[in-house]
Amino acid sequence: MERLRQRIGIYGGTFDPIHDGHFKVAEAVLRSFAMDRMLFVPAYVPPHKRGQTLSSAYHRLAMLVLATFDSPRMFVSTVELDSPTRPYTIETLQRLQVEYPEARLFFVMGADSFKDVTTWHKYERILSEYDVIVAARPRYSDDETIAGSLAPQLHASLIDLRGGLLPSNEQLMLPHIYLTDYAKVDVSATNVREMAASGGALKVLVPPAVAAYIVKYKLYQNSECQKS
Ligand code: ATP
Repeated sequence: MERLRQRIGIYGGTFDPIHDGHFKVAEAVLRSFAMDRMLFVPAYVPPHKRGQTLSSAYHRLAMLVLATFDSPRMFVSTVELDSPTRPYTIETLQRLQVEYPEARLFFVMGADSFKDVTTWHKYERILSEYDVIVAARPRYSDDETIAGSLAPQLHASLIDLRGGLLPSNEQLMLPHIYLTDYAKVDVSATNVREMAASGGALKVLVPPAVAAYIVKYKLYQNSECQKS
């Protein structure tokens, strides 16, 4: 029976650093979709592309581990960090499906990422073979942004759960694109890096252990660390 399959959320990103926006979305999605686990997947970025803009994978991984340490259903996967070349999302999902052959995988992304999804390698396979959960993000969640450039055949698989609706068992029978707004947190990693650079209070933006880590290791002190 369908519910006998594990449900695993896959939350990809650079996580430089993980912040309350990511964390609250992960908590809400775990709860609302009755998931067994959420895997955070930090992206590998080749050294020559890092420039001054990205912290080392070790720091990003350490902060993810600290943030999720007390959450029994949250895990960090090194599947992308272990790859010699940066994998496409479809490849990461295929690898994780091999690792968890019985599980149903739900790829989680913010509405800003979803806006560009049609530029992703083999995006139609991602959207049709896997479940996708789009998390509302203040300023990126209007209907046009969300569905604007999707191929017409994919509109049929959109399920609008905004307004805090939960997916029904019937909806969960087949892969869908779920639009959600369970946690609207107006925080970005850029905000966190800027706040760290100016010596401001980080505890309202990131989990406490991550705030302490950023201070202890003096991350984001250099203004060139800001990305956008
Ligand atoms: P930056 O400010 O450096 O661009 P970011 O805050 O967008 O970073 P990422 O690690 O790039 O963080 O994001 C990873 C994923 O999390 C993306 O799919 C992104 O859309 C989503 N995301 C980030 N912040 C939020 C948020 N506040 N609410 C919902 N989704 C978010």
